[in-house]
Formats: sequence, C-alpha cells, structure tokens
Amino acid sequence: MSESAFAAALEQASSCPQNLSRSRVSALLNPPGPAQERTLWRAAHLRRVATMGKCIHMRAIVEFSNYCRQDCLYCGLRRSNSRIARYRMAPDEIVDAAVEAYSIHPFGTFVLQSGEDPGYGLDDLAVAVRKIAEMTGSAVTLSSGQMSDGDYRVLREAGADRFLLKFETSDGRLFRHLKPTTTLEQRLGCLNSLRKMSYQIGSGIILGLPGQDLDSVAGDLLLCRDGDYEMVSIGPFIPHPDTPLGAGRGVTESSPTGAAASVRSTINAVAVARLLVPYAHMPATTALAVLGREDDSWRESAPSSCLTDARSLALAAGANVLMLDVTPARYREFYTIYPGKSGADGDVISDFVEQAKEDIRALGMTICPGRGDSPKMPWGRGGTGVGR
Ligand code: SAH
Repeated sequence: MSESAFAAALEQASSCPQNLSRSRVSALLNPPGPAQERTLWRAAHLRRVATMGKCIHMRAIVEFSNYCRQDCLYCGLRRSNSRIARYRMAPDEIVDAAVEAYSIHPFGTFVLQSGEDPGYGLDDLAVAVRKIAEMTGSAVTLSSGQMSDGDYRVLREAGADRFLLKFETSDGRLFRHLKPTTTLEQRLGCLNSLRKMSYQIGSGIILGLPGQDLDSVAGDLLLCRDGDYEMVSIGPFIPHPDTPLGAGRGVTESSPTGAAASVRSTINAVAVARLLVPYAHMPATTALAVLGREDDSWRESAPSSCLTDARSLALAAGANVLMLDVTPARYREFYTIYPGKSGADGDVISDFVEQAKEDIRALGMTICPGRGDSPKMPWGRGGTGVGR
C-alpha cells in the first residue's frame, strides 16, 4: 500500500465515508508506517471531537449472570465450559449494585450484561431495569444476547433505552465456525428487531479472531457504517484457556497470550470506525486495557507519555466512552469472558472511578454530563416501537 493511496483513502474517509470502498477500508486498517498511523489516529480524534465533543462518557456495567446457552468458541462463558462456577444475581442485587455505584459516581448509564441465560426470568430482569431507571434517572442499556422480539419489547417497555449486541463478525463462514449454536441471520435479525422497537443500538466486533483477515474486518466496519448504529464497539480477541481457541494457540514472545490483535491494530480499527460512523458512541474496551499490559509497543506511537493504559490511547484516537465494571466483587471473578478481565480495574469502585477520572484529566478531557444518549435522534426509523 503506497503512502499516496493511504492518503487518498484517509481523505475520502474524512470527507465522504458513505462511498468508501471495501478495499480502501482495508488500506486504512493497515497504515504503511508510523507517521500514517499517527495521522489516522489524529483524524479520528478530530472527527470525534467535532461530532461527540471532547468529553468522555463513564458508564457502569453490572454483569448479572454468567450462564449461557450458546457455545461460542472464543468465549469463557460458553455452555461447554464446565470449569467456571456459574452465578445469577437476584434482581435486588442488580439494583443494589447500580444504586451503590451511583452513590459513588452519578453514572448516566447502567449497562446490564449477561450470557444468554434462559433461566433468568424475564419479569425479574424487567423489574431490575425499571427500578434502576426510577431510582437513578439514568439510562439503562441491556446486553443479554439474542432474545425473542416479545422479550425485547417487554424490556423496552420496562424502561430499557439501549441494547448492545455485537454481531462479532460479518463473515458468514467465520460466524458459522465460531458461533455454531446460532446464525448470523438470527443475530442480525435481533438487531433489526431492536431497531424497530426504537432501542438505541450498539453493535460491533471482536478483532483478531483466528481466520479473520483485513478484508473481513473491512466488511465488518462497513456493516457498522450501514447499520448506522448508535454505539460501535471493537474489542481485541483474548484467548481463553478453557475454550477451543485458547489451548495451545500460537503463543509467541510478542504475544504471550496468543492473541492475534495488537493494541495498535485495535486502535487503527477504532479510528477507522470513527471515520465511518462519526456519530457513534465508541468505548475504549477493557479487553484493550488487558492486551495493553502485555503488548506495550503502542507506547512508542502514543501522542503523549501521560497515557497510563492502552484505553487512554483509544480515547485519543476516536473512542469516547469508558465502561467501568461495578459488578459486586464476589461475582466479578466468575464473569470470565476472557482471562484478566475481572482484575482489570481492581475491586474497589471508588478507587477505579478515581483512577478513571485521573486518566481522563491526563488526556486533557472532562467527563460528559448527563445520560449520554446518541446525538443522532430520532433513534428508531421503523416507527413501530414504544413511544418515548
Ligand atoms: N450474551 C451477550 C453478551 C456477551 S459477552 C451477547 O451475546 O451479546 C460481551 C462481549 O464479550 C461479546 O459480545 C464479545 O464481543 C466479547 N467477548 C467474548 N469472548 C471474548 C474473548 N475471548 N476476547 C475478547 N472479547 C470477547
């Protein structure tokens, strides 16, 4: 890829991303040198400041159940993993966790995430959503996987504002292999249903999955653009030892966990996504922080030496959201989607909230006030949803 071709692709991505071709997106994902990489990050940052402002949204996440009926090859919660202790928080425990976190910091959004747990009563979840919305006045985001339209509707009516459901990969062959217990059509169908119900939708991908190449990621990012999601999340794949993709994978010196995504390739993907979906909220993921502890080559390219972890770099290259895990410590260690996750931020909420604030200050940024709804209203385009 020549420098001039990269510059032309970047110019087009910044001015009219809706016409960007798949090959140009691939080109952007692989800058020819460190100077072009920094130019890409800078362009994404400027775009983010123009569309979303310079502040960072802090969201709190409660991981309320680690039971899962799916059997995804990459995920530690997969149903075939008999080595994890399963837990399910009672609705009151979920509410208490959110209210306690709110007393420490007035989070504008609470995210309730779980495996796909058919044993979690719909009414119980609806009660937790309603109580959190009422008691905090904050937005409630769900991330509980593929459910029926009826279930999504009940939860929307209970007060859920948003839903996170990453399609993970848009590559049909890869999806079939990695998610054998569902289909890409079903997952995209869920996103479609959520859209019709006027949820603000978050979707996205795992980067660095075995068998995934740049062209495949380019297709993913174009789907994020064309889905016009309100939130886009790109997290690096971290192999889990108790999954088929974890055992004995190519562990090398440069990649002690065998992960194929690097911090820099993840930041590049975040930056390109920002240009393609300029009005999306985009998190700097915990998985990126975990990866950044072993792969610190990103420090050489960082625009400032004040950055404490790889998440901060993402926040300076297009991302604008930090998610803090406020799951009670007694459960957190069992929500092992990938290793290293539960200990990523420490146990004491007030400590990691302070750390996050410090990181944000070090970036010369502030915390955004309010719920952090999507700036691109109205959200639903179907008109068949629940009235707002
Ligand atoms: N059941 C919900 C939530 C899944 S867990 C759902 O189906 O959407 C949340 C996210 O963790 C997933 O969407 C996936 O992108 C990510 N994830 C799972 N395993 C991972 C791994 N090994 N490395 C990095 N991210 C992973």
